Amino acid sequence: MATTMYCWRCKIDLPILTEEEYELVFPKSFIEQIREYREKTGVDLRQAQTDVGEQALAIYERITGFKETNPLALYHHRLSLYGPPSSECGKPLRTPAANYCATCSAPRAGSDAGH
Ligand SMILES: [Zn+2]
Ligand SMILES: [Zn+2]
Repeated sequence: MATTMYCWRCKIDLPILTEEEYELVFPKSFIEQIREYREKTGVDLRQAQTDVGEQALAIYERITGFKETNPLALYHHRLSLYGPPSSECGKPLRTPAANYCATCSAPRAGSDAGH
């Protein structure tokens, strides 16, 4: 199940996809999907972006129940791009490698355990 987390790019709480869910939304890269869609349908680039984007948004909504409107935002709604939750404020660290929380500056939990 997608977890609802704070997205620091969108600045709201929304569902963040697990790898499995992300693959349902983007079985291939967005660019590749657009290329294939154009080959199949012959539509122009703009139309392909709209259609493929809407497909991705529809899958995201089906999985999460959340109505996102920007397909490109789905790219970063991916759990593996975030770090663990902050020990202080509970918001996810901005990257898996972050050593402290960009929101409240709390150091990463367990960061003194030695990496
Ligand atoms: Zn976001
Ligand atoms: Zn924090």
